[in-house]
Amino acid sequence: MKTDHVNTCPAGNNIQAPNKTPLDADKIRNDFPILSRKVNGKRLVYLDSAATAQKPRQVIDAIASYYTDHNANVHRGLHTLAEEATAAYERARDKTAKFIGSVKREEIIFTRNTTEAINMVAHSWGRHNLKHGQRIVITQMEHHANLVPWIVLAKITGAELEYIPIDADGYLHLKDINDIINSRTRIVALTHMSNLLGTINPVEDIIDLAHKKNALVLVDGAQGVPHLPVDMKTMNADFYAFSAHKMLGPTGIGVLYAKDDLLGEMQPMQYGGEMINEVRYNFADWAELPWKFEAGTPNIAGAVGFSAALDYLEDLGMEKIREHDKMLIAYALERLAELRQFKVFGPKNPEHRGGAVSFVSPHVHPHDLAQFLDMQGIAIRAGHHCAQPLTKLLGESSTARASFYIYNSQKDIDELITALEAAWRYFAHV
Ligand code: PMP
Repeated sequence: MKTDHVNTCPAGNNIQAPNKTPLDADKIRNDFPILSRKVNGKRLVYLDSAATAQKPRQVIDAIASYYTDHNANVHRGLHTLAEEATAAYERARDKTAKFIGSVKREEIIFTRNTTEAINMVAHSWGRHNLKHGQRIVITQMEHHANLVPWIVLAKITGAELEYIPIDADGYLHLKDINDIINSRTRIVALTHMSNLLGTINPVEDIIDLAHKKNALVLVDGAQGVPHLPVDMKTMNADFYAFSAHKMLGPTGIGVLYAKDDLLGEMQPMQYGGEMINEVRYNFADWAELPWKFEAGTPNIAGAVGFSAALDYLEDLGMEKIREHDKMLIAYALERLAELRQFKVFGPKNPEHRGGAVSFVSPHVHPHDLAQFLDMQGIAIRAGHHCAQPLTKLLGESSTARASFYIYNSQKDIDELITALEAAWRYFAHV
């Protein structure tokens, strides 16, 4: 499919760009030390939050304070530091459980990232529950993290892998969904929000439908939970995976939320210390949930930093963050539409999408564009965004992507547009 939705109308069909935001991005920006540095002599305009978000001082301070005052290993020590470290680590679990809709704390498994969380499901649930003739359903817009584990699982088990297609506007094409998710389907795995198209998928409808067919649903929430209010009780996903680093937290810690009855039946992915109940020379059995899935010393400092990130997001309010995102995306689409030489991918309606906007221009390779913008202090991403099949489906080998978060303002988008115009003039020799 070669998409042909080059901008023909500003911000889409009669869609008004809201210009009010409930967040004060300039004030928020002051909380992020890195945003006060200069890049190539210019004010840093960070438009790569879909890759990783910047960290506020509160998160950096929490990690420093943990290592300065409380560092010890968790769950096994009887001394003061060990008790403090354990309490801080487990407090992070409680906060995470509350943040995604007050689920049970034993339903929160700390992983390294989204990728590891999805692999855990493919490994610990998939290998024991899928067989030849059964079906795994994913979509054509998945990040490799929610694609490769299922390709491998299908090969190992003999299950077939089926795709929900996308349409030219970057939405899931749901016309044949009843045939795609059929009675042989055991699991549906789809992204909450596409990291390339920005599309927010109707996950609740798909979960309802899948459940009617007795299939489970895994939602890749890597881009969802940093930007949208998320409540597992209303969403009713069986598995939801996300990474702290895309929501102001540190790298190296992520989350698998899973319903406790499923976790109870699943085998651990890794074996060793911390995850056992009793070990003899020829016998071992497993600890209670959630520790059964957390073998070895966990990322304690990461959990502490993540706690601080959750506090920060909660103080701002996820509803307000979503409103702010919508304002930015609407404004960005409107301004990008002024650049007739650029083709923008994904839904035009800000209600249906988040703040990751991919675009291309016939005269400028996305990598050149990213380097040109970097000279102006503007950080965007270029490449296939870990979605090679989707990039190819769009008829491209790479795209440029600008992505927004709480510290971005209309001023950042104005600077992006000015730099894109300059890049186009430079590379197209006009
Ligand atoms: N899924 C989506 C939609 C993503 O955007 C990303 C990160 N780019 C991932 C999964 C993987 O996240 P991580 O690298 O933190 O595991």
